[in-house]
Amino acid sequence: MRENPFVKPRLFCPGPTPVPLEISTAGLQTNVYHRTDAFRQIVLDCRRLLQPFFGSAEAPLILSSSGTGALEAALVNLTDVGDKILVINGGKFGERWEKLGQAYQCKVIRYTIPWGTAPDAAVVKKHLQDNPDCKAVFFQGNETSTGVAYPVKELAAAIRSVSDALIVVDAVSSLVAQLIEMDNWDLDAVVAGSQKGFGIPPGLSFVSLSKRAWTQLSKRPKFYFDLAKEKSGQDKGETAWTPATTLIFSLKAALETLSALGPKGCDEYHARMAKACRNAAEAIGLPLLAQSHPSQALTAVRLPDSMDGSALVKTCRDRYGAIFAGGQDQLKGKIIRIAHLGLVDHLDLIGAIAALEMGLHNLGYSHALGSGTAAAMRTLA
Ligand SMILES: *Cc1c(COP(=O)(O)O)cnc(C)c1O
Repeated sequence: MRENPFVKPRLFCPGPTPVPLEISTAGLQTNVYHRTDAFRQIVLDCRRLLQPFFGSAEAPLILSSSGTGALEAALVNLTDVGDKILVINGGKFGERWEKLGQAYQCKVIRYTIPWGTAPDAAVVKKHLQDNPDCKAVFFQGNETSTGVAYPVKELAAAIRSVSDALIVVDAVSSLVAQLIEMDNWDLDAVVAGSQKGFGIPPGLSFVSLSKRAWTQLSKRPKFYFDLAKEKSGQDKGETAWTPATTLIFSLKAALETLSALGPKGCDEYHARMAKACRNAAEAIGLPLLAQSHPSQALTAVRLPDSMDGSALVKTCRDRYGAIFAGGQDQLKGKIIRIAHLGLVDHLDLIGAIAALEMGLHNLGYSHALGSGTAAAMRTLA
């Protein structure tokens, strides 16, 4: 129940992202048995429609879990106990690869970078030259905690120039918002999630492995996330376990609309939305956290030192229904993250910026109200 009948909740956080009505309603088919030809066909359709967004000749697998489940699946299926792995850690999600590697007893080498920055391909290359026995490299497409887009193509090229290590990309907040070309860039595993770029609710995740990765599967014990078992079934549309059927109906509806634009069209669209958001932040006088490599999925902006960022998030939510994400850990209270990821339209973004401007105004920040929305409108119109 809403606390205030005149305040609608609107998601402007980097996941979950808003779900259009026709995609929600597609998920209302609840009395469904999944071991039927009709349902198997839907799974096959979804895998086929997902494939272009991964830029891979291999169809991705669909898992019923949040994105982290697919991260875990990738790590468990591609590493054995004691394997040396390199993790790029530039925020909460880099940290997650590190924790997963430790949980599964890999020897984790870290390349830690300051939050808000992008990794340097030359440094990644040096790490691999120093560690020729490194089995795999793990990093993000977007570090969602900082709004930085990692230069995936350059990183992969640098890795490949010195190493055969498997390249595993957490693209949970990248896919749809940013092109990922798994085959062209020679990536070995790409992971994505339903509640980010695909505009459906949380609960499905996707993982695609390269031909090379399929020949290097780990020998360690695994059960729920046994990707070889999943693949042999899913190639016929049969998931290993009971899938989140309602979400798969929504996924198909979302993929049909996204496919009309295709990965390139979606990338260009998100590039423009991100540009509009950055121009708005500049007009409002708030500096970007990512001084280079800003993400197309979200924009993280620094708040004035005197402002309590958590209070700003709360004001925007309570008064205007605008749900932003604040900063985590060392950035707690210091930034606000505005998502333009998934099925977000121009008016959504303009509304988000208007809410942010009003929230800033309520907390005593002095700027010309409307300067941010005007900048966004000029970019989008
Ligand atoms: C959202 C996200 C995840 C997955 O988080 P879940 O809460 O498990 O869905 C992983 N990596 C990145 C970069 C993300 O943005």
